[in-house]
Amino acid sequence: MTERSSEEQLLEFLYACPVGLLECDAAGEIGMMNPHAMQHLLPLAGPRNAGNLFSALEQHAPELRSIIAAFGSATGRVCDGHRIFVELGAGRRTAAPKVIACTVVKLGPDRLMATLTDISQQVVQEQRLRQADTWFGSLLDGINDYAALTILPNGRIVAGDACFTRQTGYDVADVVGRDLSDVLKTDASGGDLRLDEQLFLAERDGWHLQEGWQQRADGERYWCQRLVVARSDCNESCPTGFSVVLRDVPRRAAAAEDLRRLLTRDHLTGAANRRHFSQVLEREQTQWRDLRHSLSLIVLDLDHFKVINDTHGHPVGDIVLRRVADVCAALLPPRGIFARLGGEEFGALLPRYDREQAIGLAEDLRTAVAAIKVETQGGILSLTASFGCATLDEAEGSIDVLIALADERLYAAKHAGRNQVFHSEAYAA
Ligand code: GH3
Ligand code: MG
Ligand code: MG
Repeated sequence: MTERSSEEQLLEFLYACPVGLLECDAAGEIGMMNPHAMQHLLPLAGPRNAGNLFSALEQHAPELRSIIAAFGSATGRVCDGHRIFVELGAGRRTAAPKVIACTVVKLGPDRLMATLTDISQQVVQEQRLRQADTWFGSLLDGINDYAALTILPNGRIVAGDACFTRQTGYDVADVVGRDLSDVLKTDASGGDLRLDEQLFLAERDGWHLQEGWQQRADGERYWCQRLVVARSDCNESCPTGFSVVLRDVPRRAAAAEDLRRLLTRDHLTGAANRRHFSQVLEREQTQWRDLRHSLSLIVLDLDHFKVINDTHGHPVGDIVLRRVADVCAALLPPRGIFARLGGEEFGALLPRYDREQAIGLAEDLRTAVAAIKVETQGGILSLTASFGCATLDEAEGSIDVLIALADERLYAAKHAGRNQVFHSEAYAA
């Protein structure tokens, strides 16, 4: 047997390495990469240059370039397991999102090493664990009533227990054979999943849990946790039916509600704060990946607000901010979130709103802001705001791109003369 050179051994090592490994310079030009790295990078690069790390990841992780540029030390770990969400085509709804973890180590001023690892399974597990945690945690907090039902894959009710009657007011005998979604009347317009959508996810993942409004037989609404578990015979790949557990969750106690307000609200205007806005945005992004529900974002910035402060004083400026928040929040749909994103900049997050609906609402908000009248010692004050709209579809599921698009359009609206809505680069609504 011939002695193999150390170079051959290194190549064999790189070839067999089960994670993607590559070396590049500060500009991202790749010098070396193993087959695993190529396997991850080529599909991400698409038509872009796969020989450059930054170009290859331009669409899915454009932030990587600035993360690396911002790293001040001469050597060391630049990022550790940075998650890159790889968007899937709309036709591949059944596939779980693909997530790649990227770790970058700076070896010298012009030398970087990166690893790429597929962690899709881990991310799915994490999400499910978080959900299970919430569910099992909630089992312990107080006295609860659990209604259990069995339904067929098409949603028809097969059986229910006495608790179901107590919780919903329906006689089991009267609902057997009916479609569960007709019985419960889930408020899908508000952004909750329809039953068929929940069954789809439970079939894919084994189970699914969601919270939302349901209706009792007498029309009363109640806040309900709905767990759907797929049932299947050992030798069947499709579920033979589903078990549904419904839990009537009492509204939060006043103290907990106060705490929640404190954590999620902006102290001056009472609008949602930036942190809450980001959390909801991330949750909605997950739903977009699973079900391709549309999601729109409107950002608005008050026009010449500095002049209002300078002319009438800061306290009047504060009153104006509160009035704007009140007027806009009142126009939002039930699942919409109106948040203060910065000094005099606000954002409206609109689950299930498509582009046209978002543009319509932005126009209503613009008109409502322009109609605000604030009485001051110097007379009646009025104001306007500029708006930018974008959808998560256009941003291909990326939150960063969604925000950047809406921001760009907002500033285009400012440059075009203010008091207008922009929803694309070129022209206003
Ligand atoms: P533009 O139309 O270009 O947006 O002009 P602008 O004057 O609105 O924008 P600029 O960013 O120059 O000024 C924003 C001002 O908002 C400056 C800052 O003092 C004021 N501001 C930020 N936060 C608050 C606040 O909480 N209360 C008050 N009264 N003013 C605030
Ligand atoms: Mg402004
Ligand atoms: Mg501003």
